[in-house]
Amino acid sequence: MVIMDAHGVQSVRFQESSRHAMCVFEFIYFARPDSLLKNCELEEARLRMGRELAAAAPVDADMVIPLPDSGTPAAIGYAEAAGIPFREGLTKSRYINRTFIQPDQSLREAGVLLKLNPLRRSIAGKRVIAVDDSIVRGTTSRRILDVLRRAGAREVHLRVSSPPMRFPCFMGVDIGSSKQLVAANRSVDEVRQFIGADSLAYLSIPGLMRAVGAGTIDEFCRACFDGSYPVPVPQQLEMDKMAFEDGLDTVPRPRDVVAVS
Ligand code: SF4
Repeated sequence: MVIMDAHGVQSVRFQESSRHAMCVFEFIYFARPDSLLKNCELEEARLRMGRELAAAAPVDADMVIPLPDSGTPAAIGYAEAAGIPFREGLTKSRYINRTFIQPDQSLREAGVLLKLNPLRRSIAGKRVIAVDDSIVRGTTSRRILDVLRRAGAREVHLRVSSPPMRFPCFMGVDIGSSKQLVAANRSVDEVRQFIGADSLAYLSIPGLMRAVGAGTIDEFCRACFDGSYPVPVPQQLEMDKMAFEDGLDTVPRPRDVVAVS
């Protein structure tokens, strides 16, 4: 923990542990594809995630498309391994920021529709495999799949290059409380119904570790998938986080705020 206060800047170790547990999400999404982590270039690891997914969850289709931009390497890996053409499918405005970072759900969803436009002529009448790196709340995936169907896609199959996110992160990543994670209390088929896909498959934890190809499973934190946190999580912290996240949903949005003079 880095503390900055009136006394200056200091770095404090708050948990004694000899164990390292790198966030495996760095490999899936956070870090840049040209980053080297554990002597692995992340673009290559993400290609392997797509290949693992194609081997574990094949489906007949006419094209593989990425959900831009973070799904691209896994989609290329999936397409290569499955022998199905890789296509762009959706174009993205480069002038709008990531929806994941928007603090408000309605802003996130509006952002998705604003920034993604389907390539209607290449999608219409086709069976499409869409590849994304993760599903968090599920609402963004649902909107994007709806965009693809409106563009005339005959079938839409979603493949996800990470396991289902079922547990909140207490290490500082804003992925929401269990209540907000679509897979927390749903089976894979229930998530499929929620997002409106013809089929849905996630990468397994063993498949993910094979794709990462570095170190043993215990050298990584993967708690948002399996709940095995690398440090004990005090129950009070869990309750406080849930209360905070729930409170965020009731914070007034900009349009609800009335100026007074
Ligand atoms: S819980 Fe998930 S997002 Fe948080 S540090 Fe662990 S792997 Fe990363």
